[in-house]
Amino acid sequence: MAPLPDPARIRDPRLRAVAEKVIAGSRLEEADALACFATGDLLGLGAMADWANARRNGDRVFFSANQHINPTNVCVLRNTCVFCSFARMPKEEGAYTRTLDEVLHEAEQARHGPTREFHIVGGLHPKLRLAYYTEMIRELKARFPQVHVKALTAVEIAHLARVERTSSREVLQALKEAGLTSLPGGGAEVFSTAVRATIAERKLTGAEWLRVHREAHELGIPTNCTMLYGHVETAEDRVAHLAALRGLQDETGGFLTYIPLAYHPDHNELGEELGRTGTATTGYEDLKNIAVGRLFLDNIPHVKTHWPMVTPFLSQIALAFGCDDVEGTVVYERIYHEAGATTDMGMPYHELVRLIRGAGRRPVERDSLYQPVREEFEDFTPPPRGAPRGLPVVHAA
Ligand code: SF4
Repeated sequence: MAPLPDPARIRDPRLRAVAEKVIAGSRLEEADALACFATGDLLGLGAMADWANARRNGDRVFFSANQHINPTNVCVLRNTCVFCSFARMPKEEGAYTRTLDEVLHEAEQARHGPTREFHIVGGLHPKLRLAYYTEMIRELKARFPQVHVKALTAVEIAHLARVERTSSREVLQALKEAGLTSLPGGGAEVFSTAVRATIAERKLTGAEWLRVHREAHELGIPTNCTMLYGHVETAEDRVAHLAALRGLQDETGGFLTYIPLAYHPDHNELGEELGRTGTATTGYEDLKNIAVGRLFLDNIPHVKTHWPMVTPFLSQIALAFGCDDVEGTVVYERIYHEAGATTDMGMPYHELVRLIRGAGRRPVERDSLYQPVREEFEDFTPPPRGAPRGLPVVHAA
């Protein structure tokens, strides 16, 4: 375990009381989280979060061999989620919707690598029915029985329920029967009504997002949770959001990991309105959000750094700020690259191992449910180059 953070060595006096609670294992209040967001003592904050993480996870850092698949970028909310750079209107240039065969063709890349998870998210297509997704999951499980399917955000689940004129619980049940393992955590953004009115006025409310996740947990489907930071939200909005996540976790225990997501301002209306084009979040903010997440969400087992958003360099540093979980191989990341992310589209498996080891931590490959699947890498040799990584074929929407 990391050396105990000595409250006397924490520069910001407001953090010392927080450090005493962390060491005692006491739950932080919302005022404590606000003090953490307000502090300039980033290293003191990081030391506390690192210690809290080490107490829970030791020196283990989890990663997954995953492949992202985005079946469509057509979205009925394209004009109202002003922070989104990914979505298109059906006839807009760049719009695409895959056939099932095209999705399966892209998934074939999993045969050439160690993939254990498909991460499937996309837009809210006005015409795609629930059967499109259940058939996709069934076919993926038939072809790749060893691969978990983590698919569809709460926003997509609620949209499919509207399309099918049924309940989100029924949609979740159908997806589970098709072979769904878990839900990703996207679409949460920031739960504040005022923030949502500004950045995503027609998206489902925070209460609805929480309801869909509660239903998933009740059906035995674990989920991830997120917060999109670095746009118009205040520290109070962030803390209220984290408190709502912690409250649901107290009820259900169904969240696996928390992922703070950095807003990228390129190619979206919000970035232009804020005059932020080309100016993403700072490393200081990124590390603070990791650390506060670890300290405040005392009931969520893992905190993940999303390297495509914040860069592998910062993700490596985040491992000393309370983070024990790194986004995986990804293979082809589209959503944040549409918004200006300059990182690679995917990361080779052996690079992930190297990144984690380079931070002095012990890499553990996990599956979607955070069960370790590989902890020994001594005999590890990088996979041969030449596996197909080209752009998949897409049809116009
Ligand atoms: S954030 Fe999601 S729901 Fe909103 S426009 Fe983008 S893809 Fe659609």
